[in-house]
Amino acid sequence: MSIPFVDLKLQYENIGKELNTAINEVISDAAFIGFSGNRYVKDFEQKFREFLGIEHCVGCANGTDAIELVLKALDIGRGDEVIVPACTWISTSEAVSSIGATPIFADIEDDYYTIDPSSIETKITNKTRAIIAVHLYGQAANLGKIKEIAEKYNLKLIEDCAQAHGAEFGGKKVGTLGDAATFSFFPGKNLGAYGDAGCVVTSDPELANKVRLLSNHGQAKKHDHQIEGRNSRLDGIQAAVLTVKLKYLHEWTNNRIKNADIYDSMLSRSSVRRPATRPGSKHVFHLYVIRTAKRDQLIESLNKAEVSTGIHYPLPLPMQKAYSNYNYGVHDFPVSSKHTSEIISLPMYPELSEQQIEKVCSKIVKSFNA
Ligand SMILES: *Cc1c(COP(=O)(O)O)cnc(C)c1O
Repeated sequence: MSIPFVDLKLQYENIGKELNTAINEVISDAAFIGFSGNRYVKDFEQKFREFLGIEHCVGCANGTDAIELVLKALDIGRGDEVIVPACTWISTSEAVSSIGATPIFADIEDDYYTIDPSSIETKITNKTRAIIAVHLYGQAANLGKIKEIAEKYNLKLIEDCAQAHGAEFGGKKVGTLGDAATFSFFPGKNLGAYGDAGCVVTSDPELANKVRLLSNHGQAKKHDHQIEGRNSRLDGIQAAVLTVKLKYLHEWTNNRIKNADIYDSMLSRSSVRRPATRPGSKHVFHLYVIRTAKRDQLIESLNKAEVSTGIHYPLPLPMQKAYSNYNYGVHDFPVSSKHTSEIISLPMYPELSEQQIEKVCSKIVKSFNA
Protein backbone atom coordinates (compact mmCIF):
# COMPACT_ATOMS: atom_id res chain seq x y z
CA MET A 1 0.00 0.00 0.00
CA SER A 2 1.59 3.25 -1.13
CA ILE A 3 1.60 6.30 1.12
CA PRO A 4 0.99 9.66 -0.56
CA PHE A 5 2.65 12.89 0.55
CA VAL A 6 -0.71 14.62 1.00
CA ASP A 7 -4.19 13.20 0.35
CA LEU A 8 -6.71 15.81 -0.73
CA LYS A 9 -8.99 13.13 -2.19
CA LEU A 10 -9.45 11.59 1.23
CA GLN A 11 -10.27 15.02 2.67
CA TYR A 12 -12.89 15.42 -0.06
CA GLU A 13 -14.39 12.01 0.73
CA ASN A 14 -14.94 13.21 4.29
CA ILE A 15 -16.51 16.61 3.68
CA GLY A 16 -17.33 16.54 -0.04
CA LYS A 17 -21.10 16.77 0.37
CA GLU A 18 -20.86 19.97 2.34
CA LEU A 19 -18.38 21.40 -0.16
CA ASN A 20 -20.56 20.52 -3.15
CA THR A 21 -23.53 22.28 -1.56
CA ALA A 22 -21.45 25.38 -0.89
CA ILE A 23 -19.99 25.44 -4.41
CA ASN A 24 -23.40 24.91 -6.03
CA GLU A 25 -24.85 27.80 -4.06
CA VAL A 26 -22.24 30.18 -5.49
CA ILE A 27 -22.87 28.90 -9.01
CA SER A 28 -26.65 29.20 -8.81
CA ASP A 29 -26.14 32.68 -7.36
CA ALA A 30 -23.68 33.51 -10.20
CA ALA A 31 -21.48 35.15 -7.56
CA PHE A 32 -18.23 34.24 -9.22
CA ILE A 33 -16.04 37.30 -8.95
CA GLY A 34 -14.84 38.92 -5.74
CA PHE A 35 -16.39 42.32 -6.35
CA SER A 36 -16.93 44.31 -3.19
CA GLY A 37 -20.52 43.07 -2.78
CA ASN A 38 -19.73 39.35 -3.06
CA ARG A 39 -21.27 37.85 0.08
CA TYR A 40 -19.29 34.61 -0.10
CA VAL A 41 -16.03 36.52 -0.13
CA LYS A 42 -17.21 38.87 2.62
CA ASP A 43 -18.33 35.94 4.71
CA PHE A 44 -14.97 34.19 4.44
CA GLU A 45 -13.03 37.37 5.12
CA GLN A 46 -15.05 37.92 8.29
CA LYS A 47 -14.68 34.34 9.51
CA PHE A 48 -10.95 34.30 8.84
CA ARG A 49 -10.58 37.61 10.66
CA GLU A 50 -12.41 36.13 13.65
CA PHE A 51 -10.28 33.00 13.50
CA LEU A 52 -7.11 35.09 13.77
CA GLY A 53 -8.51 37.83 16.00
CA ILE A 54 -7.54 40.69 13.70
CA GLU A 55 -9.49 43.65 12.34
CA HIS A 56 -8.99 43.41 8.57
CA CYS A 57 -8.79 40.64 6.00
CA VAL A 58 -8.64 41.24 2.26
CA GLY A 59 -8.97 38.22 0.00
CA CYS A 60 -6.83 38.08 -3.14
CA ALA A 61 -5.94 35.72 -5.94
CA ASN A 62 -3.03 33.82 -4.30
CA GLY A 63 -0.37 34.02 -1.61
CA THR A 64 2.28 35.46 -3.91
CA ASP A 65 0.02 38.36 -4.89
CA ALA A 66 -0.76 38.89 -1.20
CA ILE A 67 2.91 39.68 -0.50
CA GLU A 68 3.17 41.85 -3.59
CA LEU A 69 0.02 43.80 -2.66
CA VAL A 70 1.25 44.46 0.89
CA LEU A 71 4.65 45.67 -0.29
CA LYS A 72 3.00 48.00 -2.80
CA ALA A 73 0.51 49.25 -0.24
CA LEU A 74 3.45 50.08 2.03
CA ASP A 75 4.91 52.17 -0.83
CA ILE A 76 7.96 49.96 -1.09
CA GLY A 77 9.49 49.89 -4.56
CA ARG A 78 12.51 50.73 -6.69
CA GLY A 79 15.67 51.44 -4.70
CA ASP A 80 14.33 49.75 -1.55
CA GLU A 81 15.62 46.58 0.05
CA VAL A 82 13.54 43.93 1.80
CA ILE A 83 15.15 41.24 3.94
CA VAL A 84 13.87 37.69 3.36
CA PRO A 85 15.05 34.25 4.50
CA ALA A 86 17.37 32.21 2.27
CA CYS A 87 15.20 29.13 2.88
CA THR A 88 11.60 29.63 1.76
CA TRP A 89 9.40 29.14 -1.27
CA ILE A 90 10.44 31.60 -3.99
CA SER A 91 7.22 33.67 -3.72
CA THR A 92 8.71 35.53 -0.75
CA SER A 93 11.62 36.97 -2.73
CA GLU A 94 9.82 37.03 -6.09
CA ALA A 95 7.17 39.39 -4.72
CA VAL A 96 9.91 41.79 -3.62
CA SER A 97 11.52 41.81 -7.07
CA SER A 98 8.20 42.06 -8.86
CA ILE A 99 7.45 45.46 -7.27
CA GLY A 100 10.91 46.71 -8.24
CA ALA A 101 12.62 46.37 -4.86
CA THR A 102 15.61 44.15 -4.06
CA PRO A 103 15.34 41.00 -1.94
CA ILE A 104 18.23 40.68 0.51
CA PHE A 105 18.69 37.16 1.81
CA ALA A 106 19.42 36.32 5.44
CA ASP A 107 20.47 32.94 6.81
CA ILE A 108 18.21 30.72 8.94
CA GLU A 109 18.40 29.51 12.56
CA ASP A 110 19.99 26.12 12.92
CA ASP A 111 17.45 24.81 15.43
CA TYR A 112 14.14 26.07 14.04
CA TYR A 113 14.88 26.69 10.33
CA THR A 114 13.27 30.16 10.22
CA ILE A 115 15.03 33.46 9.46
CA ASP A 116 17.86 34.21 11.92
CA PRO A 117 17.49 37.59 13.67
CA SER A 118 21.26 37.98 14.03
CA SER A 119 21.69 37.44 10.29
CA ILE A 120 18.93 40.00 9.62
CA GLU A 121 20.84 42.59 11.60
CA THR A 122 24.00 42.18 9.47
CA LYS A 123 21.96 42.76 6.28
CA ILE A 124 20.40 46.10 7.23
CA THR A 125 21.48 49.12 5.16
CA ASN A 126 20.06 52.61 4.75
CA LYS A 127 17.92 51.20 1.90
CA THR A 128 16.24 48.54 4.02
CA ARG A 129 12.49 49.12 4.35
CA ALA A 130 11.02 45.85 5.54
CA ILE A 131 11.60 42.34 6.83
CA ILE A 132 9.51 39.39 5.66
CA ALA A 133 9.47 36.67 8.32
CA VAL A 134 8.33 33.31 6.96
CA HIS A 135 6.79 30.81 9.38
CA LEU A 136 8.39 27.91 7.57
CA TYR A 137 6.89 24.40 7.64
CA GLY A 138 4.32 25.64 10.21
CA GLN A 139 6.94 26.82 12.72
CA ALA A 140 6.68 30.40 14.01
CA ALA A 141 9.68 32.57 13.18
CA ASN A 142 11.51 34.22 16.08
CA LEU A 143 9.08 37.12 16.13
CA GLY A 144 10.14 38.52 19.50
CA LYS A 145 13.66 39.30 18.36
CA ILE A 146 12.59 40.19 14.82
CA LYS A 147 10.05 42.72 16.11
CA GLU A 148 12.74 44.31 18.28
CA ILE A 149 14.99 44.69 15.24
CA ALA A 150 12.15 46.07 13.11
CA GLU A 151 11.36 48.66 15.77
CA LYS A 152 15.00 49.57 16.38
CA TYR A 153 15.64 50.26 12.68
CA ASN A 154 12.14 51.53 11.88
CA LEU A 155 11.39 48.73 9.40
CA LYS A 156 8.04 47.23 8.46
CA LEU A 157 7.48 43.64 9.53
CA ILE A 158 5.50 41.40 7.19
CA GLU A 159 4.65 37.85 8.19
CA ASP A 160 4.44 35.29 5.38
CA CYS A 161 2.00 32.81 6.93
CA ALA A 162 1.48 30.67 3.81
CA GLN A 163 2.58 27.55 5.70
CA ALA A 164 1.31 28.45 9.15
CA HIS A 165 -2.49 28.87 9.42
CA GLY A 166 -3.24 28.74 13.15
CA ALA A 167 0.40 28.61 14.33
CA GLU A 168 1.19 30.66 17.43
CA PHE A 169 4.07 32.66 18.84
CA GLY A 170 3.99 33.51 22.55
CA GLY A 171 0.30 32.57 22.77
CA LYS A 172 -0.71 34.77 19.83
CA LYS A 173 -1.68 33.57 16.37
CA VAL A 174 0.90 34.28 13.71
CA GLY A 175 -0.41 36.86 11.29
CA THR A 176 -1.38 39.21 14.12
CA LEU A 177 2.11 40.22 15.25
CA GLY A 178 3.59 42.22 12.36
CA ASP A 179 2.43 45.28 10.42
CA ALA A 180 0.65 42.96 8.01
CA ALA A 181 0.59 39.28 7.15
CA THR A 182 -0.10 37.21 4.07
CA PHE A 183 -1.71 33.81 3.66
CA SER A 184 -1.85 31.39 0.77
CA PHE A 185 -4.78 29.02 0.31
CA PHE A 186 -3.07 26.91 -2.35
CA PRO A 187 -4.87 23.52 -2.19
CA GLY A 188 -2.06 21.71 -0.36
CA LYS A 189 -1.65 24.30 2.39
CA ASN A 190 -3.09 23.67 5.89
CA LEU A 191 -6.18 25.62 4.78
CA GLY A 192 -6.53 25.08 1.05
CA ALA A 193 -8.99 26.25 -1.60
CA TYR A 194 -9.95 24.33 -4.77
CA GLY A 195 -7.68 26.47 -6.89
CA ASP A 196 -5.45 29.47 -6.19
CA ALA A 197 -6.41 31.86 -3.40
CA GLY A 198 -4.81 34.06 -0.75
CA CYS A 199 -5.37 36.98 1.60
CA VAL A 200 -3.76 39.86 3.45
CA VAL A 201 -4.54 40.58 7.09
CA THR A 202 -3.66 43.65 9.15
CA SER A 203 -4.93 45.75 12.04
CA ASP A 204 -4.18 48.93 10.08
CA PRO A 205 -7.39 50.17 8.35
CA GLU A 206 -5.57 52.41 5.87
CA LEU A 207 -3.24 49.63 4.81
CA ALA A 208 -6.17 47.23 4.40
CA ASN A 209 -8.01 49.78 2.30
CA LYS A 210 -4.97 50.33 0.07
CA VAL A 211 -4.54 46.58 -0.42
CA ARG A 212 -8.22 46.29 -1.38
CA LEU A 213 -7.91 49.14 -3.87
CA LEU A 214 -4.77 47.68 -5.42
CA SER A 215 -6.35 44.24 -5.72
CA ASN A 216 -9.38 45.55 -7.64
CA HIS A 217 -8.09 48.05 -10.24
CA GLY A 218 -7.91 50.86 -7.71
CA GLN A 219 -11.71 51.09 -7.53
CA ALA A 220 -13.29 52.61 -4.44
CA LYS A 221 -16.57 51.82 -6.14
CA LYS A 222 -17.40 50.65 -9.63
CA HIS A 223 -15.69 52.86 -12.28
CA ASP A 224 -14.20 55.10 -9.57
CA HIS A 225 -10.46 54.44 -10.00
CA GLN A 226 -8.62 56.18 -7.17
CA ILE A 227 -5.31 54.70 -8.26
CA GLU A 228 -4.04 52.16 -10.77
CA GLY A 229 -4.20 48.71 -9.30
CA ARG A 230 -4.53 45.29 -10.81
CA ASN A 231 -6.80 42.28 -10.82
CA SER A 232 -6.09 40.02 -7.87
CA ARG A 233 -9.39 39.09 -6.27
CA LEU A 234 -10.54 36.10 -4.23
CA ASP A 235 -13.38 34.48 -6.17
CA GLY A 236 -16.75 33.36 -4.81
CA ILE A 237 -16.26 29.61 -5.26
CA GLN A 238 -12.89 29.61 -3.51
CA ALA A 239 -14.28 31.73 -0.68
CA ALA A 240 -17.19 29.32 -0.20
CA VAL A 241 -14.83 26.31 -0.13
CA LEU A 242 -12.60 28.07 2.39
CA THR A 243 -15.53 28.97 4.65
CA VAL A 244 -16.50 25.31 4.85
CA LYS A 245 -12.93 24.12 5.40
CA LEU A 246 -12.13 26.77 8.02
CA LYS A 247 -14.58 25.04 10.39
CA TYR A 248 -12.36 21.96 10.32
CA LEU A 249 -9.00 23.70 10.54
CA HIS A 250 -8.67 23.40 14.32
CA GLU A 251 -9.36 19.66 14.23
CA TRP A 252 -7.03 19.18 11.25
CA THR A 253 -4.27 21.11 13.00
CA ASN A 254 -4.64 18.95 16.09
CA ASN A 255 -4.35 15.86 13.91
CA ARG A 256 -1.19 17.21 12.28
CA ILE A 257 0.33 17.84 15.71
CA LYS A 258 -0.70 14.37 16.89
CA ASN A 259 0.88 12.84 13.77
CA ALA A 260 4.08 14.79 14.38
CA ASP A 261 4.15 13.41 17.94
CA ILE A 262 3.78 9.87 16.60
CA TYR A 263 6.61 10.46 14.11
CA ASP A 264 8.73 11.92 16.92
CA SER A 265 8.35 8.94 19.18
CA MET A 266 8.77 6.33 16.44
CA LEU A 267 11.83 8.05 15.02
CA SER A 268 13.53 8.42 18.39
CA ARG A 269 15.05 5.00 17.69
CA SER A 270 16.74 6.26 14.53
CA SER A 271 19.63 8.66 14.01
CA VAL A 272 17.63 11.17 11.95
CA ARG A 273 17.23 14.67 13.31
CA ARG A 274 13.58 15.38 14.13
CA PRO A 275 12.00 18.83 13.89
CA ALA A 276 12.18 20.92 17.07
CA THR A 277 9.35 23.22 18.14
CA ARG A 278 10.29 26.69 19.30
CA PRO A 279 9.55 26.96 23.05
CA GLY A 280 6.39 28.93 23.77
CA SER A 281 5.09 28.56 20.23
CA LYS A 282 2.65 26.31 18.39
CA HIS A 283 4.01 24.46 15.35
CA VAL A 284 1.23 23.44 12.94
CA PHE A 285 3.30 21.01 10.86
CA HIS A 286 2.48 22.03 7.34
CA LEU A 287 5.48 19.81 6.70
CA TYR A 288 7.28 17.26 8.87
CA VAL A 289 10.91 17.72 7.89
CA ILE A 290 13.67 15.44 9.12
CA ARG A 291 17.41 15.74 8.50
CA THR A 292 20.10 13.20 7.76
CA ALA A 293 23.51 13.27 6.13
CA LYS A 294 22.48 10.06 4.31
CA ARG A 295 19.53 11.64 2.58
CA ASP A 296 19.84 10.07 -0.86
CA GLN A 297 20.07 6.58 0.57
CA LEU A 298 16.99 7.19 2.71
CA ILE A 299 14.94 8.65 -0.14
CA GLU A 300 15.78 5.65 -2.28
CA SER A 301 14.60 3.14 0.30
CA LEU A 302 11.41 5.12 0.96
CA ASN A 303 10.77 5.30 -2.79
CA LYS A 304 11.10 1.54 -3.02
CA ALA A 305 8.54 1.16 -0.25
CA GLU A 306 6.19 3.49 -2.20
CA VAL A 307 6.39 6.21 0.43
CA SER A 308 6.22 9.65 -1.20
CA THR A 309 8.63 12.26 0.11
CA GLY A 310 9.66 15.78 -0.85
CA ILE A 311 12.55 18.20 -0.40
CA HIS A 312 11.50 21.67 0.75
CA TYR A 313 13.63 23.12 -0.65
CA PRO A 314 16.60 21.61 -2.52
CA LEU A 315 18.67 24.83 -2.63
CA PRO A 316 18.86 28.02 -0.61
CA LEU A 317 17.09 30.60 -2.80
CA PRO A 318 20.19 32.79 -3.32
CA MET A 319 21.88 29.74 -4.87
CA GLN A 320 19.13 29.35 -7.49
CA LYS A 321 19.94 30.35 -11.05
CA ALA A 322 17.36 33.15 -10.85
CA TYR A 323 19.66 34.88 -8.34
CA SER A 324 23.01 34.07 -9.95
CA ASN A 325 23.61 37.80 -10.46
CA TYR A 326 24.22 38.07 -6.69
CA ASN A 327 27.22 35.70 -7.06
CA TYR A 328 26.60 34.03 -3.74
CA GLY A 329 28.40 30.88 -2.64
CA VAL A 330 27.39 28.25 -0.08
CA HIS A 331 29.64 29.94 2.51
CA ASP A 332 27.46 33.04 2.41
CA PHE A 333 24.58 31.00 3.89
CA PRO A 334 26.25 28.19 5.87
CA VAL A 335 23.22 27.18 7.94
CA SER A 336 20.81 27.22 4.98
CA SER A 337 23.26 25.30 2.80
CA LYS A 338 23.74 22.49 5.30
CA HIS A 339 19.99 22.39 5.94
CA THR A 340 19.02 22.07 2.27
CA SER A 341 21.57 19.28 1.75
CA GLU A 342 20.07 17.11 4.52
CA ILE A 343 16.30 17.61 4.57
CA ILE A 344 13.48 15.23 3.67
CA SER A 345 9.79 16.03 4.08
CA LEU A 346 7.78 12.98 5.15
CA PRO A 347 4.08 12.40 4.39
CA MET A 348 2.02 14.78 6.54
CA TYR A 349 -1.71 15.50 6.48
CA PRO A 350 -4.52 15.35 9.04
CA GLU A 351 -5.96 12.06 7.75
CA LEU A 352 -2.63 10.19 7.85
CA SER A 353 -3.10 7.12 10.05
CA GLU A 354 -0.90 5.78 12.82
CA GLN A 355 -0.34 2.59 10.79
CA GLN A 356 0.85 4.63 7.82
CA ILE A 357 3.26 6.59 10.02
CA GLU A 358 4.47 3.33 11.53
CA LYS A 359 5.23 1.98 8.07
CA VAL A 360 7.20 5.09 7.12
CA CYS A 361 9.15 5.04 10.38
CA SER A 362 9.97 1.34 10.28
CA LYS A 363 11.43 1.84 6.78
CA ILE A 364 13.54 4.70 8.10
CA VAL A 365 14.80 2.74 11.10
CA LYS A 366 15.58 -0.27 8.87
CA SER A 367 17.30 1.82 6.25
CA PHE A 368 19.85 2.99 8.81
CA ASN A 369 20.41 -0.45 10.26
CA ALA A 370 20.98 -1.99 6.83
C1 LIG B 1 2.83 28.69 -0.88
C2 LIG B 1 3.68 29.82 -0.44
C3 LIG B 1 3.53 31.13 -0.91
C4 LIG B 1 2.66 31.54 -2.05
O1 LIG B 1 1.55 30.94 -2.28
P1 LIG B 1 0.72 30.88 -3.66
O2 LIG B 1 -0.66 30.94 -3.16
O3 LIG B 1 1.07 29.58 -4.28
O4 LIG B 1 1.08 32.05 -4.49
C5 LIG B 1 4.29 32.13 -0.36
N1 LIG B 1 5.19 31.87 0.60
C6 LIG B 1 5.40 30.64 1.07
C7 LIG B 1 6.40 30.42 2.16
C8 LIG B 1 4.67 29.56 0.57
O5 LIG B 1 4.88 28.33 1.04
